[in-house]
Amino acid sequence: MTRVAIVGVAGRMGRTLVNAVEQDAEATLAGGIVEPGSTLAGADLGELAGVGKRSVVAVDSLQSIVDDFDVLIDFTAPQVTLANLAFCAEHGKRIVIGTTGMSDDELAQLDSYRNKVAMVFAPNMSVGVNLTLKLLETAAKALGDEGYDIEVIESHHRHKVDAPSGTAIKMGEVIAESLGRNLKEHGVFERVGQCGPRTDKEIGFATVRAGDIVGEHTVMFATEGERIEITHKASSRMTFAKGAVRAARWVADKESGRYDMQDVLGLE
Ligand code: NAD
Repeated sequence: MTRVAIVGVAGRMGRTLVNAVEQDAEATLAGGIVEPGSTLAGADLGELAGVGKRSVVAVDSLQSIVDDFDVLIDFTAPQVTLANLAFCAEHGKRIVIGTTGMSDDELAQLDSYRNKVAMVFAPNMSVGVNLTLKLLETAAKALGDEGYDIEVIESHHRHKVDAPSGTAIKMGEVIAESLGRNLKEHGVFERVGQCGPRTDKEIGFATVRAGDIVGEHTVMFATEGERIEITHKASSRMTFAKGAVRAARWVADKESGRYDMQDVLGLE
């Protein structure tokens, strides 16, 4: 049985994660952490997530539950996640990170822990998206150098704070890598005014923020005469939460290293 603690347990993903851990026969809810000073400290985690009383209460310090859990699941914000990563490295805990929107510097800091802690880090924990990454690799190899323009379009709810989504960037990276391109050089994240015609090798991104959209990604491969679209639509946060719990179970006995969902799902 993997003992799981959830950081950001009062958030959209945090509450869904409580639900997912409760539904998993091989994982147990060992703790939940809210922001320091939050009035939700002391709240029953089950009640917080709407699944009924569970007798595990939210705390506002990781240290206070250090002996209770094996794997931490963190869907919060970059600086919070980096602090928790340091904590896990220091205390021999594993960690599953779903937080997106890290800067290059923050990503480098995260990576510096790869030999100190076993972590799964993925901008999208859904099985479907990770399979989609494989499909994109195949499509990019077949079409990308044959005159097909590649565009990534993503839509999310109005509360999302980073753009484009971590998943969209990951899709762009997978495509760029498959084609020997560099996303830093070929990614186009903004088009406004007299921006000129499209270049052959660019990989374009478009972002929609509206209402309660959980997460939708389409990659378009378009040329004269035809267009292929590979689309993934998440209809519930449960898909990410279940993937994260699966990752927590998977990483529980792994040695230090930086893993992703392709490793967890055996898709490499
Ligand atoms: P949210 O704002 O609803 O939740 C974040 C929570 O973190 C909040 O409740 C906040 O109070 C809490 N928090 C902030 N600082 C904290 C601290 N120091 N200690 C404990 N808790 C703290 O956001 P969300 O929609 O749940 O998304 C969170 C992150 O997860 C975002 O980066 C989002 O992009 C990402 N996300 C990833 C996936 C994936 O599959 N990898 C899926 C969905 C969302």
